[in-house]
Amino acid sequence: MIVYAADHGKYMTLADSFRRQPEGKRNVYINLTNRCTCNCTFCLRGLKHMGEEETLWLHGKEPTVEEVKKELDQVPWDRISEAVFCGFGEPTERLDDMVELLRYIRKTHPEIPTRVNTNGLSDLAYGRDTSGDFDGLLDTISISLNASNAERYLALTRSRFGIQSFDAMLDFAVRCKAHVPHVVLTVVDHVESEEEIEKCRKICEERGLTLRVRPYEAN
Ligand code: SF4
Repeated sequence: MIVYAADHGKYMTLADSFRRQPEGKRNVYINLTNRCTCNCTFCLRGLKHMGEEETLWLHGKEPTVEEVKKELDQVPWDRISEAVFCGFGEPTERLDDMVELLRYIRKTHPEIPTRVNTNGLSDLAYGRDTSGDFDGLLDTISISLNASNAERYLALTRSRFGIQSFDAMLDFAVRCKAHVPHVVLTVVDHVESEEEIEKCRKICEERGLTLRVRPYEAN
């Protein structure tokens, strides 16, 4: 699935979602890639039995921007609360394509809030400051903080960029504040202890960032 809905950890087409629950608005999620610069110990991509979640795995090839736009044109936008770039992989692996799609949503449906869920490592991936790419296009960026220090972060994420990843992710988050109204850092509740979560909270407070302790989902 490229464009999908989520309900209590289950992923489905928007049509199925509205069949199951006709009332109310919901988020639309956009799945661009299976690729990621991390290999988190808790990532669904690494689990053997993905069951229904397999529907998010992009078999064959990644969708083109035009293919995604075509799917977006079918979305019942008056029933959508937020458009979220997420999925089984890291959306910034296709940064330029995602920015083009964000621009498309802004142009065609400026009333819809937009969000990107990311590992926050795009500066390392592209060797430049990528925070400005989202300027004026994105309402919320949700960045996986994962841990309170570089060693723990690397042990959990197994980032291909090594020990520098934690500091680079935090620098990216701070720079995003100039371009994105809501910058949220997240930590997964069942992976970290209360003590570790408190340390994460302090890191965020010191930098004027919001921490969200969340249940695990694909990204
Ligand atoms: S949890 Fe997210 S950042 Fe970690 S490997 Fe999976 S897709 Fe990548």
